[in-house]
Amino acid sequence: MNVLEGKAVFEGIAIGKLYVYKKKEQSVKREKVSDAKAEIERYHAAKDMAIKQLQELYDKAVKEVGEAGAEIFEAHQFMVDDGDYIDSVENIIQSEGVNAEFAVAQTGDVFHNMFIEMDDEYFKGRATDVKDITERLISCLMGSSSGDIVSDEPVIVVADDLAPSETVQMDKEKILSFVTVHGSANSHTSILAKTMNIPAIIGCDISLSDEMDGKEAIVDGFEGKVYVEPTTEILEEKKGLLQKEIEKKELLEKLKGKDNVTIDGQRINLYANIGNTKDLGLVLKNDAGGIGLFRSEFIYLGADDYPTEEEQFAIYKQVAQAMNKKKVIIRTLDIGADKQADYFNLPKEENPAMGLRAIRICLTSPDIFKTQLRAILRASAYGNISIMFPMIISVDEVKRIKEIVSEVKAELDADGISYDKDIELGIMIETPAAVMIAEELAKEVDFFSVGTNDLTQYTLAIDRQNQSLDDFYDAHHPGLLRMLKMIVDGAHKGGAWAGICGELGSDLSLTKEFLAMGYDELSVSPGRILPLRQVVLETNVGEYKKEKGYI
Ligand code: PEP
Ligand code: MG
Repeated sequence: MNVLEGKAVFEGIAIGKLYVYKKKEQSVKREKVSDAKAEIERYHAAKDMAIKQLQELYDKAVKEVGEAGAEIFEAHQFMVDDGDYIDSVENIIQSEGVNAEFAVAQTGDVFHNMFIEMDDEYFKGRATDVKDITERLISCLMGSSSGDIVSDEPVIVVADDLAPSETVQMDKEKILSFVTVHGSANSHTSILAKTMNIPAIIGCDISLSDEMDGKEAIVDGFEGKVYVEPTTEILEEKKGLLQKEIEKKELLEKLKGKDNVTIDGQRINLYANIGNTKDLGLVLKNDAGGIGLFRSEFIYLGADDYPTEEEQFAIYKQVAQAMNKKKVIIRTLDIGADKQADYFNLPKEENPAMGLRAIRICLTSPDIFKTQLRAILRASAYGNISIMFPMIISVDEVKRIKEIVSEVKAELDADGISYDKDIELGIMIETPAAVMIAEELAKEVDFFSVGTNDLTQYTLAIDRQNQSLDDFYDAHHPGLLRMLKMIVDGAHKGGAWAGICGELGSDLSLTKEFLAMGYDELSVSPGRILPLRQVVLETNVGEYKKEKGYI
């Protein structure tokens, strides 16, 4: 048995096999092979594997999004099996005596360029598909996972670090736990672990060698340890803990359908944070009252090019309809800093967290912004959607945003397209500047949602991505808690409601404090809704305030 330590970012126990996740970027080298026939056979085996994976993706997508949305995986199967593509790969291997990876990469390039040069928009669009299937074939040849978890059973994912664009592609049903060598307590890997309600350990000095793949292990998210090939004693002990966890979850199940109201009658809305439509199942399963933060930038991160209005509309509409009249707060794209998409071609910056990100990109590229706003407004006809803008620092910004929203509404009116004319507009309070002018900002909008992840970063001057600063990171810093009180007071004075959608909102040790401050809503990872409800139901806010000397 080998015991490794790290920093636990979400508690719980996971028992299963390790799965060493390989990065998506795969550099293909040209290598000479002595047996071209064997290499062609290797290519065909990879081709069969790719077709099998695509069939599985097709079946899954049919269940999740219906046949129309799944068609792409069927089309990809045909492309992998295309006679011209196969001939080209075989020819290169045969004539040049090179490895299959290189032959596939070269064929992919040629076909990609061929499609891109076509006049027809439809065929131009197929260039991206060629790239996709080529990457899949290379992944199959190299045995790397390219975002997919290739395993029949759920596994403990072990990685150097995980970028949001990688986690977004992973099949969540196949993940028992995350263990990463790097990553910070406040990074998106941690957020994902909380969303999924699974234990996660970061900063763990675990080997990423192939030998680790498939080894039995236990992740203990209470003590921050990974037991590789555990002894029978440890296995039995942890199985006992796992059983207790299961029982705790069963108790929480009983809270489903209950109101979020304190003993003395104070209500609070408990909403869920999501990154994509795949999280919807978890939102409904955990009985969330709505969606308080839809991180729409994940649509952009999962794409090779700017998502079109139609693509976005389909997603927002799906979310609105799935939530069936419950509130859905869509945050406009918050790209930049730790969430980069190549096609934005953002300039390299010394301090990306303080650079061109989020609303700043939208205000400097109004076309991108308007496309998203049109898609959201159109979807608002199908449910109860609100729009929220990130990284606000001034009243002028909010006024400019409202002008742009009005312009888009006028365009929709002119086109006779319906949308919710009274759609709520809100802003995220993530900068100290916004805190200081909360009341003025509140007069301009319907609601606030505090992004404590960024607000903490900017208040404590601690990069949320920098793992080495975790010891300095005090999530309960009195300066920050005072700000949270200022925000809710400013909101109410200015006529807006206020919620918290950063990670601090799910900190159960602060729930009473947030109720005492007067917050109207907490939006948290779906898995935290029921534990939060339990605290709300057990709280007497009046007594708590007396106890603390607030009244
Ligand atoms: C936050 O900053 O607290 C927040 C909710 O937004 P994100 O984590 O996506 O930056
Ligand atoms: Mg933020």
